[in-house]
Amino acid sequence: MVQNVIEQSEQVVHDLNAKMQGRVTARWDEGYDNARKVWNGAVDHHPVAIAFCESAEDVQAAVRTARAHNLPVSVRSRGHDAAGRSVRSDALVIDLSPMDHVRIDDQVATVAGGATAAKVIAAAAARNLMAVTGWNGVPGMTGLTTVGGYGPLIASHGLALDSLTGAELVLADGQRLTVDRDKNPDLLWALKGGGGNFGVVTSMKVRLHPARQVLGGMILFPWGEAETVLARCGKAIGSASNNLSVVIGIISLPDGSPALFLAPAWTGEISDGDIAMEVLKRCGKPMHVQIASMGYQDLIQGFDARVANDKHYALETRWIPALNPEAMSALIEGGASRTSPFSTIILQHFRGLPTQFPLDSTAFGLRREHVMVEIISCWDPTAGDNGSVHKRWARDFSQTLAPMSLPGGYPNLLGPHAQDQIAQAYGNNITRLQAVKRRFDPDGFFSATALPR
Ligand SMILES: Cc1cc2nc3c(=O)[nH]c(=O)nc-3n(C[C@H](O)[C@H](O)[C@H](O)COP(=O)(O)OP(=O)(O)OC[C@H]3O[C@@H](n4cnc5c(N)ncnc54)[C@H](O)[C@@H]3O)c2cc1C
Repeated sequence: MVQNVIEQSEQVVHDLNAKMQGRVTARWDEGYDNARKVWNGAVDHHPVAIAFCESAEDVQAAVRTARAHNLPVSVRSRGHDAAGRSVRSDALVIDLSPMDHVRIDDQVATVAGGATAAKVIAAAAARNLMAVTGWNGVPGMTGLTTVGGYGPLIASHGLALDSLTGAELVLADGQRLTVDRDKNPDLLWALKGGGGNFGVVTSMKVRLHPARQVLGGMILFPWGEAETVLARCGKAIGSASNNLSVVIGIISLPDGSPALFLAPAWTGEISDGDIAMEVLKRCGKPMHVQIASMGYQDLIQGFDARVANDKHYALETRWIPALNPEAMSALIEGGASRTSPFSTIILQHFRGLPTQFPLDSTAFGLRREHVMVEIISCWDPTAGDNGSVHKRWARDFSQTLAPMSLPGGYPNLLGPHAQDQIAQAYGNNITRLQAVKRRFDPDGFFSATALPR
């Protein structure tokens, strides 16, 4: 049996090497252990081989070879899915990291499937333009955009997927397909929320926006003021202009005790922004304020500098309707009971422009105003525990939030264990999404983020 598996793997690698330009790494290669790593160090998946694709033709060769050998696949762009779904055990990983070019024509970026959001942001900035992204530049732009994309421009420009205008894919039969408003519009609709469940997205077209100077940074409040700050901030954001987006977070101070931060991003007139920042500062008595006018790229780089890459993670997520008193006391209780100083709770407010689009305009499952809660359990792998206590904290806190939450959750952060939430994440869009899945991937060859069958 073991001998058969080895022989099959050797044959797969032999066929890939014969057909692809990019390199292939398999279990017996020296670089294999490094190549199978993803952002979340707790993920320990062992694929049969990893095909580093340099072109859409390489992707076609990888898909066809996997099919010929009856081998499942997973697609990796930048490996930031916390559940590690881009590197699947006993499968062929189609790695797109060598395909990271970004081209800009007029106000549209053509983004290769393996480009980071940072690369798109940089290319746009060079043309005095902005791309709608998340708060970090390190994730892959395709993974982010095809499932959602909550970020600093959400209230003014929508989710990242609201700027997606087209894509090129390699389907499960190895054929290439162009998708835009006129060609296969149903698949474009599905890609705006349904993620990489239909094929390998080798490139996307993304609408860019005129660059604006951003007023942003961080305001840090003592933990004792958390309840007051959350209440005042919730009210202030709810009635603010669409030029304001604010991430609220619970983090640890150097001594391990919790603190509450507000990280605003204002994209309107700077003089109006100064007033908006004053309102946020007055939500309490800040311990530390660092707000400055900067380019969008600088804002994102500031957040990237805080991302820890050598840690183990477990993520949970909920959509809550608002920062009401019940939710606030649960958040404070959750923040105080964290089991690791590295764990955080992040709140992203979905409001403004994206709430004006009808639910069925894209596959994304929730268009009403809401707060996306990210429960990020993070621990140091050298601490010697297996993370179970930290994982339990995240699950327990998610369960506490469940009765006050809306059904579903942000699919990019819903791991395979969250089946009950996955089943509801697309709301009434699920029937149409499943029909598109049946049409373009009838055998279920691609499985990316959460998509109920
Ligand atoms: C540090 C960090 C910060 C984040 N910040 C935000 C944020 O501010 N806002 C937000 O909305 N999200 C955020 N996320 C979530 C992130 O956007 C998603 O996890 C995203 O899917 C990561 O993309 P990736 O290419 O890096 O991941 P991967 O693990 O490579 O891929 C993620 C999933 O998408 C599929 N996939 C990726 N590329 C393709 C493709 N080209 N074709 C087909 N399938 C594909 C993979 O198979 C996998 O299932 C963050 C995540 C991290 C780790």
